[in-house]
Amino acid sequence: MASRYDVIVVGVGGMGSAACYQLAQRGQRVLGLERFDIGHTNGSSHGVTRIIRLAYFESPVYVPMLRRAFELWRETGDRFGEPLLITTGGIDASPEGDRVFTGSLESCRAHDLPHEVLTGAEVNRRFPGYRLPATHRAVFQPDGGMVLSERAIVAHVTMATAAGAEIHTREKVLEWQPIAGGGVRVVTDRGGYEAGRLILSAGGWISDFVPALEAIAVPERQVVGWFRPSAPEKFAPGAFPVSVVAVDEGLFYLLPVYGIPGLKLGRYHHLHEHGHADALSHGVTGADEEALRACLAPYLPEANGPVVKLQSCMFTVTPDEHFIIDTMPGNDDVIVASPCSGHGYKFASVVGEILADLAVGGSSRFDLSTFSLSRFA
Ligand SMILES: Cc1cc2nc3c(=O)[nH]c(=O)nc-3n(C[C@H](O)[C@H](O)[C@H](O)COP(=O)(O)OP(=O)(O)OC[C@H]3O[C@@H](n4cnc5c(N)ncnc54)[C@H](O)[C@@H]3O)c2cc1C
Repeated sequence: MASRYDVIVVGVGGMGSAACYQLAQRGQRVLGLERFDIGHTNGSSHGVTRIIRLAYFESPVYVPMLRRAFELWRETGDRFGEPLLITTGGIDASPEGDRVFTGSLESCRAHDLPHEVLTGAEVNRRFPGYRLPATHRAVFQPDGGMVLSERAIVAHVTMATAAGAEIHTREKVLEWQPIAGGGVRVVTDRGGYEAGRLILSAGGWISDFVPALEAIAVPERQVVGWFRPSAPEKFAPGAFPVSVVAVDEGLFYLLPVYGIPGLKLGRYHHLHEHGHADALSHGVTGADEEALRACLAPYLPEANGPVVKLQSCMFTVTPDEHFIIDTMPGNDDVIVASPCSGHGYKFASVVGEILADLAVGGSSRFDLSTFSLSRFA
């Protein structure tokens, strides 16, 4: 007889760990199944930090969820006894007509967010690590900062298990099936379990469980670098804001020195390498480093020092770069959660709450229509 739970969560990474925490808090019998360890480097959530920002060039529809994400990161950090959010202010900079500047400004205006509009020259004066083109335009939003993504997974799992959740690591889910009359059965490489509801939060592996997503939620290899600055004081959290910067060389994201002694940066979509999550290379090459230095040399010359660390990671990218958060068509017992396209981690706190709301009550107070599966039909 298989053990029976209220909810099974497949994948205990960024989103799954938050869902386990939220569900266990509500007294749900929850089982989280993770094929690797708690905190590993094969998925999408490692690398110490992630950018969080209220100004959202991707679309103003994210802002209400972001407000709640900020609240939850603070509350969860307080409960865990470690800050999970560090405020640095945020810069979104690009040529004037580019969506990074225009979209960021639109979201600030639509939601009445405190912000300043700066030229590139003003950014360079205020944050002297920068040498942006003087005619660039930037939005500075003071709430931007970093979420400590690796610690947040540990926090969520620690508090989920303290509240009664079972978390199984090194247990690979092989398949799930609906049970006639309601509920689901989950088969792993160690056994079988049943539950009333199933949350699929398997990151880059989501299409292993929802084959229709194979060409829709596509794993993409990324590489992030940490580079030792010659003037470290210009790249410390008090002096350098988290940033998204569009330049001729690509769209880059940057985070101040924290945890690893180097300025952290990556290029969205990196070298455009796609494939099954198990097939993407975890190694790093000179071409990876070169792609990142293309931003450092002209725009952040004092951070263009020796490599401290290069690390591969994985995006799961949808065609419109919006998330997937929805119930499975024809089966409300199964919830699909793929909030990525390179910008999902900051939402993990609120996504955990949304997934718990969907699993327990069948609805969310947020408008999730942008994240529906039916938009791909
Ligand atoms: C380099 C990089 C930089 C990023 N920067 C930012 C940023 O600055 N800000 C931001 O908001 N977002 C950012 N993102 C995106 C963000 O990190 C992701 O959206 C987020 O980590 C996705 O979390 P997840 O829970 O979906 O995936 P994961 O954390 O990878 O979790 C999925 C889990 O499912 C498990 N799993 C898969 N298959 C199975 C199976 N068969 N059985 C059991 N377990 C399974 C995996 O092992 C994994 O632990 C970045 C991503 C990358 C790669």
